Amino acid sequence: MKIPLSGPDLGEREKELVLEVLESGHLGLGPKAVEFERMMAEYAGTKYAISCNSGTSGLHMLVHAMGIKDGDEVITTPFSFVASSNCVLFERATPVFVDIDEQTYNIDVTQIEAKITERTKAILPVHVFGQPANMTEIRRLADKYNLKIIEDSCEAIGAKWKGKPAGALGDAGVFAFYPNKQLTTGEGGIVVTDDEELANLCFSLRNQGRGEDGLWLSHVRLGWNYRMDELSAALGIAQMERVEDILKRRQAVADMYFEKLRDVPGIILPQSVEDAEVSWFVYVIRFAPEFNRDEIMHTLSNDGIGCRPYFTPIHLQPFYMEQFGFKEGDFPVTERVAKGTLAIPFFTNMTEEQVDVVVAKLRAQVQVNV
Ligand SMILES: *Cc1c(COP(=O)(O)O)cnc(C)c1O
Repeated sequence: MKIPLSGPDLGEREKELVLEVLESGHLGLGPKAVEFERMMAEYAGTKYAISCNSGTSGLHMLVHAMGIKDGDEVITTPFSFVASSNCVLFERATPVFVDIDEQTYNIDVTQIEAKITERTKAILPVHVFGQPANMTEIRRLADKYNLKIIEDSCEAIGAKWKGKPAGALGDAGVFAFYPNKQLTTGEGGIVVTDDEELANLCFSLRNQGRGEDGLWLSHVRLGWNYRMDELSAALGIAQMERVEDILKRRQAVADMYFEKLRDVPGIILPQSVEDAEVSWFVYVIRFAPEFNRDEIMHTLSNDGIGCRPYFTPIHLQPFYMEQFGFKEGDFPVTERVAKGTLAIPFFTNMTEEQVDVVVAKLRAQVQVNV
């Protein structure tokens, strides 16, 4: 039995709405994106939502819209997908990494203050694997030092910190909809914020810097084509209509893994803190140091079980090492965690039978692979 690492959950409603767009002939900048934005703003509890063509473009627009530029610093985590730091580099600013907390794998908030300088402009926390970072402490520090907060919520739609939705806890947040995320639009992303000025800037930036007057050939600033197309927005609407059901089913899959892996020696299961409500993006286990994660990973892959070493630390990506001189040992907790973690098959439609197959393979592996 082959079991993929992830996969979208698409149904009749998705087909119906996409077909509606095709039949309308209105494929870009149309009513579906507006409707999707309305649904997302309502869900996140923000005044504005600005759809765009990826999570990365949403993050980039926010960095730019906040005026972060050459010489500025943005505090973030090295244990993430590379886009959360690249968005800072796009504007020639510097990502300043802070090591992570070993339980939650999120930025270690006790180490942030020491990294703040007069060049620091923002904190960019990532809600890693759908677990919200400690936003209480991040907000306190941002207020104390007058910093912006850009929430990378690309893995965390539906997650909550102290009962409040991820994405709506900073000055602005971004959700992403690549097919491996909780919800998908094919490619796509969305910015959510209460800040009117920021929202208007993002509407303009994603649309080639056009002005608010709506004149098609009037460009008042440098912008990009970061627009979401109507086919993607149609998918997004269909997915949002049953977001609660999707997240509940993912929770049920996570619960099955917790139950069935609990007694497997040497495997550390995901841990969360009391204030955090996780939205399950991926299910990432961590092997105790005496296990050879890579060997287990290769065996599982060869048996048709999708798995991946989430994440390779950003500071150890070849391009970051070359450009910035990062090296092994710079962020010891991140590196220690990253050596042992493995994302195992996890998707909304996953059956108990599939979970059992994965668990059985893992059990067999931890017996031989010490
Ligand atoms: C998915 C993801 C993004 C954005 O990804 P896109 O593929 O550009 O939509 C950004 N940050 C993190 C942490 C992500 O997981």
